[in-house]
Amino acid sequence: MANSETIRSINRSRILDLIRIGQPVSRAELARRTGLQRSSVSTIVNELLRNQWVTEGERQVLPRGRQPLALRLNRQRSRILGINVRPRRTDLAIADFNLGLEGQESWPTPAEPESFLRQLIPRIQRLQASPRHHQIESIGISVPGRVDAGNHIIVFAPNLGWRQVDLKTPLEAACNVPVYIENAANACALAEVWEGPHAGAQNLVVVTVSEGIGTGIIANGCLVRGASGAAGEFGHISLAGDGPACGCGGRGCWETLASNSAALRYYRQPANGHAGPAREPRRAGAGEFPALLLQFAQGEARATQALERMARSLGQGMAMLTHCLAPACIVVVGEITQAWQALGPIIEHEAAALARVHNPPRIVPSDEGRQPRLRGSVAMVLHRYFRPGIAP
Ligand SMILES: [Zn+2]
Repeated sequence: MANSETIRSINRSRILDLIRIGQPVSRAELARRTGLQRSSVSTIVNELLRNQWVTEGERQVLPRGRQPLALRLNRQRSRILGINVRPRRTDLAIADFNLGLEGQESWPTPAEPESFLRQLIPRIQRLQASPRHHQIESIGISVPGRVDAGNHIIVFAPNLGWRQVDLKTPLEAACNVPVYIENAANACALAEVWEGPHAGAQNLVVVTVSEGIGTGIIANGCLVRGASGAAGEFGHISLAGDGPACGCGGRGCWETLASNSAALRYYRQPANGHAGPAREPRRAGAGEFPALLLQFAQGEARATQALERMARSLGQGMAMLTHCLAPACIVVVGEITQAWQALGPIIEHEAAALARVHNPPRIVPSDEGRQPRLRGSVAMVLHRYFRPGIAP
């Protein structure tokens, strides 16, 4: 049974979230929206004011009658530091409650977690010491792999080659702020339902397409973790038993067929035996997916074949997601969204052909310009303060 402190904590989050969504908002309005007594609302609001989560004072302009004091989130309050780790690159930015990112830095991700920490800690300490930034409240790190939701240990990140990695303990010791680690796709899903066109969505799946494939699932309004915390590893469901070997030890996993890495492999080893002469220049070189996208945009035949094959494979997996979860919407995060006009219809067509359901989900690209992965690493921390029930 929930004790009174738990109930108060739940109500505090509810009120904080209502202020965030409805600001400027009055105490009376909060009482009406929550059904709580005015006195309970005031107790919580006073606490939020004391802790500088919100500000009160500017009067709302109403046509007549009393003008209640308006509550707003305190934009001067401290910031969240968001970090997204990918095999090739790590991005970092500071954000406010509205997910506005500032001070972004990027650097190549080292192969070893120890080197990663050695590079990351001084960067964070420099930001903490900088007078330009508000105090850093907490740090959110999203990683492409399985994370233990209880102790925040990275259980296994195949594309990083990291197993049983604890970033939280050494970072908290060095930087003296709470550190939270989350699977990147889960983090992206939490960012989607935080604000923007899918704010508050109850049934939504995010598919992150990069070196591998991750899925973050919001079902019935909550992030799905499962008993082990590893729910949503659709990227490692085998769709071709005789397919390529996967970093997880399996074969033919969805991500070996539909990720950026898969498209680069298709490009180098086209199907149908049309491998081209051995001396043909490897134009998409250096393993760069953006280069492949560029060649695709220029109409290069092999790049077109490779990306269309990737798109069909993405559609196959989305049919699986449709049958499993019946989401209202599937949001795709990744560089492939830059070619959505050409590839989106292929993905949708393949998914619809394989999952013949009455109400197929909308399949939409994320807004890459808004940095969904970085926003995710911040949103998953914000949910802890504002909507703890969504991502327990
Ligand atoms: Zn796998």
